[in-house]
Amino acid sequence: MRKTITTTRLQKVVNEAYEECKDIQGGVNAHYIPYLANVDSNLFGVSVILPDGSSVNIGDTDYIFGVESISKVFTAILILKELGPQKVLQAIGADATGLPFNSIFAILLEKDHPSTPLVNAGAISACSLVEPIGDSDGKWKTIMDNFEDLCGERPAVIDELYKSESETNFTNRAIAWLLKSYDRIYDDVLMSLDLYTRQCSIGVTSRMLATCAATIANHGLNPVTGKQVFPGELTPKITSLISTVGFYQTTGDWLYSSGIPAKSGVGGGVLGVLPGVMGIAAFSPPLDTAGNSVKAQAVVKTIMQKLDLNLFN
Ligand code: GLU
Repeated sequence: MRKTITTTRLQKVVNEAYEECKDIQGGVNAHYIPYLANVDSNLFGVSVILPDGSSVNIGDTDYIFGVESISKVFTAILILKELGPQKVLQAIGADATGLPFNSIFAILLEKDHPSTPLVNAGAISACSLVEPIGDSDGKWKTIMDNFEDLCGERPAVIDELYKSESETNFTNRAIAWLLKSYDRIYDDVLMSLDLYTRQCSIGVTSRMLATCAATIANHGLNPVTGKQVFPGELTPKITSLISTVGFYQTTGDWLYSSGIPAKSGVGGGVLGVLPGVMGIAAFSPPLDTAGNSVKAQAVVKTIMQKLDLNLFN
């Protein structure tokens, strides 16, 4: 997609959208992870970064929140870089599930396949594929280095969130063992599950997520640091994964009404990628019933409409 937006216009549009969306009510914080239930529900921030590195940030854009499912995009990029698109397709898949993020039914329906790195099953499988195989510390370093490259700064795990998730991740434990029985975990099972749980507990800001989104939009070249993080030809692969399953069972509704591939997380974040045009991230903790932030969705959609942007147009 080719469309150039000036920073002045972007600033005006993001300001207007922020004002229009800031009082939207509805949704509740994720309550199945105790730490997330207690995050201030009124926090709200939006960040946009253009391919030239210029940015607009409004609201709580420096607040550190749990990346959660958006971490799946980071690790998908990592294994695409390490193994290439064909191997990822064969080992995990790239299919939409149309079902919730932690669906066991989806694994059974896909006939033992994790289906995509952007649902829990595929993300645990993706963590098992990260190199060096068999070395938990080495794999964690690779995951964190990749986060740093994509975000433009090194994030840190929110220890309390990691503890909270580790104590309550019963469904993910079931998913990991089910995948193991289907030979879809390519390293130690508990290590792979732990790496997944830990990466979900990484703390990020909307600025950091927008930098990652802008790097994907900019064909692997981080517009903030100037570093080529991944080969440009991976952008369509990453964007197609995000398009098909970024909002789980409501992904079709999201694409239809927003026109931008985006990935949500139960921490309240949304990361959106418009290739060649911009990276966007928004954050607000209260979620709809599918686990997607109510206000973050609203503000991204409003910005898209005001800028008259749509991937499918
Ligand atoms: N850590 C969460 C889980 O595995 C992430 C889910 C999400 O953000 O959708 O349940």
